[in-house]
Amino acid sequence: MTSRGTTGRPARAASAAVDTLPGVGAQLAARLADAGLCTLQDLWFHLPLRYEDRTRLVPVRALCHGQPAQVEGRVTQVEQGFRGRPQLRVALADAEGDVLTLRFFHFRRAQAVRFRVGCRLRVFGEPRLGLLGPEMVHPSYRLLAEAEAAPVADRLDPVYPAVAGVGPRVLARIIGAALDRLDAEAELELVPPDWFPVAAGWSLRAALLHVHRPPPDADLAALALRQHPAQLRLVVEELLAHHLSLRCQRVSLQQQGAPALARRGALSARLRAALPFALTAAQHRVLEEIEADLARPRPMLRLLQGDVGSGKTIVAALAALRAVENGQQVALVAPTEILAEQHLQSLRGWLEPLGVRVGWLAGKVTGKARRAVLDALAAGELEVVVGTHALMQEGVRFARLALCIVDEQHRFGVHQRLALRDKGGAAGVPHQLVMTATPIPRTLAMTAYADLDVSRIDELPPGRKPVRTVVVSSGRRLEVMDRIREACARGAQAYWVCTLIEDSEDVQAQAAESTLVELQKALHGLRLGLVHGRMPPAEKAAVMQGFKQGGIQVLVATTVIEVGVDVPNASLMVIENAERLGLAQLHQLRGRVGRGAAESTCVLLYQPPLSPLARQRLQTLRETQDGFVIAERDLALRGPGEVLGTRQTGLAQFRLADLERDAALLEQVAALGERVMAGLPQAVEPLIRRWIGQAVRYAEV
Ligand code: ADP
Ligand code: MG
Repeated sequence: MTSRGTTGRPARAASAAVDTLPGVGAQLAARLADAGLCTLQDLWFHLPLRYEDRTRLVPVRALCHGQPAQVEGRVTQVEQGFRGRPQLRVALADAEGDVLTLRFFHFRRAQAVRFRVGCRLRVFGEPRLGLLGPEMVHPSYRLLAEAEAAPVADRLDPVYPAVAGVGPRVLARIIGAALDRLDAEAELELVPPDWFPVAAGWSLRAALLHVHRPPPDADLAALALRQHPAQLRLVVEELLAHHLSLRCQRVSLQQQGAPALARRGALSARLRAALPFALTAAQHRVLEEIEADLARPRPMLRLLQGDVGSGKTIVAALAALRAVENGQQVALVAPTEILAEQHLQSLRGWLEPLGVRVGWLAGKVTGKARRAVLDALAAGELEVVVGTHALMQEGVRFARLALCIVDEQHRFGVHQRLALRDKGGAAGVPHQLVMTATPIPRTLAMTAYADLDVSRIDELPPGRKPVRTVVVSSGRRLEVMDRIREACARGAQAYWVCTLIEDSEDVQAQAAESTLVELQKALHGLRLGLVHGRMPPAEKAAVMQGFKQGGIQVLVATTVIEVGVDVPNASLMVIENAERLGLAQLHQLRGRVGRGAAESTCVLLYQPPLSPLARQRLQTLRETQDGFVIAERDLALRGPGEVLGTRQTGLAQFRLADLERDAALLEQVAALGERVMAGLPQAVEPLIRRWIGQAVRYAEV
């Protein structure tokens, strides 16, 4: 192998620290390090998300909705106003006299006074077609001096993934400085270029330079679609790194044993016979897949995916019984206390009549009660335990834990899921069943959860009613309250969901409390309840119980009810500030209604004006209830830079690759992986480190 001498080793400049660059001091270096950018190589591989084309000026008349563009003109009008919130409106007329309206909602006075009628302005932004013609909200802009000859850019501007505390211009400058040290000497190739199935003619260095600094004659269309050979060269290497990382993870796992749960007892047959419903065909199928896994002496790693309300819990309960029948223990972990409590109720209802002991452990279980649960688990007296992430903590020991069930995986990081692997005790690594309602396209699941096999419940229990979804401006809040009154008069129950952008549970709780006060006035005579994350568990449980039993007619809640809560008689849901939530979250919330016999309605209240993206999200929800369609639209809409808190942290994060788009490459990547493992094993670790960096640590747990 002649290439050995030059491959398999990272280049020397590559490992130089970022603070060897001009203008990068300790503070800046620390911020970069927080984002995983420690060496020059890290910066070289911090790839543009997209490009902004400032190489042309676009006439206002030629602007396309949603297509970012650069426009130049003169200010013809400046208006400051308050319509609900402060707003600065600037009218800009181009050479042909066509007018573009610029809107700013956050601005400083100093900024506002610089816009004067008659001054020259060049702006870049995403146009939308408003009532008054084309508009841009918060474009970037530059004031031009009267006689200034401002040439347009001669190449595309790369837009980088944001780094907290480092402005985009500074980041671009630092990356530029790092690229200046990406000289011909830099030995970057870890794998010989001619091994690559596509774009073999591109050296890694040339590909990186092209992608960071597309030359004036670059194929812009191909770059925008990420189909340029330079990008493909990088995509293949990125996919290769992920593939290798998952292979390593699987290998290390398969070397460990797991308790084979082969014995069938009478318990699960008794539970099935006691259920008030028959399992759907899909539930049967996934259960068989799970039981086949459990019977093997190797750890099961299975993702159980099923839309909201598809009936994952009973499948989990039956899987748990298989472990109990084999004399083993089961842990069920949920991301929130409310959801965990709900599972506790379900499991106790199903399992305790069979003589199975079900315990409870959450963060708030302390003192003696906690000690008792921990002792019972360690002694093997509790067969099933339900709880929150408190179950993943160090002090928790099991006598013979054979099955971990984790609900709503996307709320947990991969490393948390891995933490449970160590709790199996002498019997080996516990089997793992991960449940999620997030629909993940199969190709995506194969790679994003490639250490997991996938089972899918693709059928809802019979008798589910579609939920009518309406989108209503918050100006019509009072009408919505009337609707609640009517619905409750007919015996229905309703959710009123308060949402805030702030992640702080305290702030959320306060908002929910003041909403409760407001609704109590408006809905005088109705029985209202409140539930939020800051309430003591006992109080929370009492309120949920009251709602479940019908004592509470209207439940005011924060998004803590997002997952898992099951009250079939609730047929009306109002979601406030729906425009602030992501599609997946709205879909989950809406899944709380439409579970009973009555026609259900979901009211999405929004605060105008709606951004085009938010409008599309709400439109999608009105049009469909199919979790897969929603997930696909979500992927399509959630462009880079989308900041709302709906990012599914369980999914692998790629820099350039896209598992959907690049699906055709996956097979070739697997073959390349084979070749690298066999012929160039020393390249595996540096490849993984280069592309996945910090995440590798979790894989090594
Ligand atoms: P999810 O998949 O969202 O976790 P759940 O497990 O909470 O769904 O199930 C939703 C509701 O459907 C529960 O009330 C559950 O008892 C009920 N259910 C589950 N399976 C069936 C079935 N085969 N037929 C009828 N109802 C079912
Ligand atoms: Mg559930």
